Amino acid sequence: MANKVKTDPTLAATVLRILREPGIQKINFSLNAIIVKGQDYAPVAQAIADGRIQCQVAKQFASQGELARGMSVEARYETDSNVMLFQRANYGSTASEERTILHEATHAMFDLSGSKKHNIRQISIDDESAAVLVEALYTRLCKKELMGFKMVQYGPQDEALRIADNMMAERNNFEDDTSMYVLKEEDLQMLRAAVATDWNFTRVVDKKTGTITDNTGALYIYNGVGLCKARRKGK
Ligand SMILES: [Zn+2]
Repeated sequence: MANKVKTDPTLAATVLRILREPGIQKINFSLNAIIVKGQDYAPVAQAIADGRIQCQVAKQFASQGELARGMSVEARYETDSNVMLFQRANYGSTASEERTILHEATHAMFDLSGSKKHNIRQISIDDESAAVLVEALYTRLCKKELMGFKMVQYGPQDEALRIADNMMAERNNFEDDTSMYVLKEEDLQMLRAAVATDWNFTRVVDKKTGTITDNTGALYIYNGVGLCKARRKGK
């Protein structure tokens, strides 16, 4: 086990702090077949706390060949190793970095619901759309500064924030009614189109349904987060 890198305690503490912000509990939406519920971040936090998901610093991120030119990667969740990677140990010190952490935790949440037996294959464009919408809702529900969030007009974050603001308005800021919000078809299409551009997904419009997808075989394969050894021993 010599090559087994331990989780970075500073990073893990930062991720846990963000996952435990009360406003996150109000997140509850469905986007295509994807459901994101605030309460489902608790198992992610638990997995980080007991080491099944590790948080580590990575100086360099290998290119996944998925981003459009000019975009950079500063964080990533790796499904094979169940590791959240960040640029620095003190990552998460700005609202923008906090959003990115919740974004990656959303991928980890999807992975937690997968299993080795039944890999969950999700089309990347939907995963990314859901993760960006989470960023926007988090910004509003936890009252985070916008910073550069809307920087690119009609970009994914700009679209996501517009949708999030509509959701908040329709639901009175989710003060009373936190039942699942089903994303409107036109909002979904706008968001997917913006995500497709940024992530360099090939954009394919289904002739029958008008649904935008990618035909690159770009799927996220979530195969579950393994049980940690300490747990298996019955700790
Ligand atoms: Zn992502």
